Amino acid sequence: MGQSDYFDEGALVAVLTTQPLGRALDYKAPEGGVMRGAFVEVPLGPRKVIGVVWGAGAGGFDLKKARSIARVLDVAPMREEMRAFLEKCGAYTLTSLPQMLRLATRAPGLSNPPSMQKVYRMGHKAPDRMTDARGRVLAVLEEFGALGFTLGELAEQAGVTSSVVKGLVKQGAVHEEDTPRDLPFARLDASRPGKELTEAQGVAADRLVQGQKAGVFGATLLWGITGSGKTEVYLEAVAEALRQGRQALVLLPEIALSADFMRRVEARFGAKAAEWHSGVTMTERRRVWKMVGEGGAQLVIGARSALFLPFQDLGLIVVDEEHDSSYKQEEGALYNARDMAVLRGSLCGAQVVLASATPSLESWSNAQSGKYELIELTSRYGVAVLPELRTIDMRQVKLPSNRWISPQLESAVKARMLKGEQSLLFLNRRGYAPVTLCRKCGEQIACTDCDARMVEHRFLKQLMCHQCGATRPIPEVCPSCEAEDTLAVVGPGVERLAEEAAERFPEARVAVLSSDLFGSARALKAQIMAIAEGAADVIIGTQLVAKGHNFPLLTLVGIIDADLSLQGSDMRAAERTFQQMRQVSGRAGRAEKAGVAMLQTYQPEHPVLRAIMSGEERQFWRAEADERRLSGMPPFGRLAGVVISAPNERDAFDLGEHLARNAAPLAKIGAQVFGPAPAPVARVRGRHRVRLLVKAPKDAPLQAALRAWLKGLKLPNQLRLSVDIDPQSF
Ligand code: ADP
Ligand code: ZN
Repeated sequence: MGQSDYFDEGALVAVLTTQPLGRALDYKAPEGGVMRGAFVEVPLGPRKVIGVVWGAGAGGFDLKKARSIARVLDVAPMREEMRAFLEKCGAYTLTSLPQMLRLATRAPGLSNPPSMQKVYRMGHKAPDRMTDARGRVLAVLEEFGALGFTLGELAEQAGVTSSVVKGLVKQGAVHEEDTPRDLPFARLDASRPGKELTEAQGVAADRLVQGQKAGVFGATLLWGITGSGKTEVYLEAVAEALRQGRQALVLLPEIALSADFMRRVEARFGAKAAEWHSGVTMTERRRVWKMVGEGGAQLVIGARSALFLPFQDLGLIVVDEEHDSSYKQEEGALYNARDMAVLRGSLCGAQVVLASATPSLESWSNAQSGKYELIELTSRYGVAVLPELRTIDMRQVKLPSNRWISPQLESAVKARMLKGEQSLLFLNRRGYAPVTLCRKCGEQIACTDCDARMVEHRFLKQLMCHQCGATRPIPEVCPSCEAEDTLAVVGPGVERLAEEAAERFPEARVAVLSSDLFGSARALKAQIMAIAEGAADVIIGTQLVAKGHNFPLLTLVGIIDADLSLQGSDMRAAERTFQQMRQVSGRAGRAEKAGVAMLQTYQPEHPVLRAIMSGEERQFWRAEADERRLSGMPPFGRLAGVVISAPNERDAFDLGEHLARNAAPLAKIGAQVFGPAPAPVARVRGRHRVRLLVKAPKDAPLQAALRAWLKGLKLPNQLRLSVDIDPQSF
């Protein structure tokens, strides 16, 4: 720590807050002085807000007018490395520092002193009188109560008022106890042996462990087919990081954060890791945040935002399912957690491991060029083999209308049922049917605010817009011509597919896994666990099931519409379809039982389907890469999207055209501007969206040019502009 890291009482310091002022404000250091990086509370107008001491104040005004820092908070100061990370990440994504700071302070009640809280668990006595509400409380406690709930959580989970819980406490049916908040996590035991590794796994694990021992930054692509044991392998690197006394972070796509995964980690290290995702309670978040900063959490398993936790000494970052598009944050700061993990690792001297069965073209090409190490696992663990793949040519199948399950798939499901095995029917479409139209006038019911159709959700008894989430009742008459009984639905969604499955397999227990059908992450986790233990014969699922869950009894995967994601003009369509089909097929046959995946398609000759069928992965990636290279698209060129939105389409276009005409700073670095054109979703929540795409050579200083280009731009009233570096679709 240098001299300049400490500021004496009365010295002027710059404090960054999350308020959208764009820059840090000057305050006087309080009594006792203050450290650089300290979390503080400062007066701002009539309010007090939380901020971080960023450095020396800029001054340049009457010192007597400067206000003082009100209080230094009792949390570990933000480390130099974290400040650098926020600055660099902000510079890369063209996001302001206050907005970046918001990502790094997502812990409620930071300014509160540590305190006690009441926690509720199952009591010893039965209630004197059982009611529905009481029954629900006890059921929730029985299922999840080991963790302990706060009053609010328990009441919410059971759907009762807190007085119901209090009543049960009085009768001894629920137990109430005081526990201090913010306890450290139980120590993980890194000396416990992991599973005995196969030779190939052992070689892979050794390389990661050696990389970890080096104690410096390095990035590795761990490319292993589904079921090859990537998790077992990278857990060895986690163990090494823990032995070094350093912290580790494992990132997973939000919906792959299963109880199953948490248990695996617990079994490996003998204690629970810290969890960080949207299903974690507010009190637990605060605890994780503080303990990560104080070193009381050694291992965090989290969704993308865990990257912004204040680690004390982060030695390893694993990004599992690194190809997953949900790593890209699509609102606010538009960052890709996979790329920012590499940045963070380079700043704190951590090893970064990107794991996938179907890597992104970006990581694939970084491994090709030697920027990343490459470790491959080419066979499944044990006797498990990759599923046999078959296409079903739907042009040859004559299905009655409103039926989507081919006879081949139907008899395969029936055969599984006879053997007590599970089948998964995959369709990446939530709801009952994608289109509702009037048979008389042809009107398709669309969202009033978005460029999107309303999707019928029959379970929820409403129409829903998948862009903005707006819902409305299913109308009885056509909203356009007012004819009665003329509305009809077209095409399948998972709910409708479930209906067909129930008809075709009357004896089957059919379960639908779709994110909108579960009130909470907990409920979803519980359902997934039940299915893994055999509570369903036929599982109908959206992409929710494509990720990371282990269903040991699952031996058949039927992909209802393999052509679905190939539609559209997106350059990534092929890559995404390939990844999705491989991932979903990979769900079949993970244990001793061999699996089969059947892909229903109208275009079996399509290059993507041919590549999936033949298993010629490398050829596929090479062909994809060649195409991108020729067109200068990522990862061989750089791309930024500039989205302008306005209530009025003309205004958005006008600004877009103005920007396109005045793009000298971009021309200077050899970048081209395309558009403006309607954005991939052209209207959302009543705002029209147009997009400019900026394409630059790979080594061009794109961000600097963008900043110069947009500098001083005065946005007319009602217009908004956002820059998306490395957009997902192009
Ligand atoms: P991946 O992450 O590559 O899909 P996993 O690590 O989830 O693969 O492994 C697939 C399954 O095989 C898991 O149930 C895992 O416990 C098991 N497995 C993998 N390697 C071993 C091993 N060496 N010993 C015992 N079980 C293993
Ligand atoms: Zn909408």
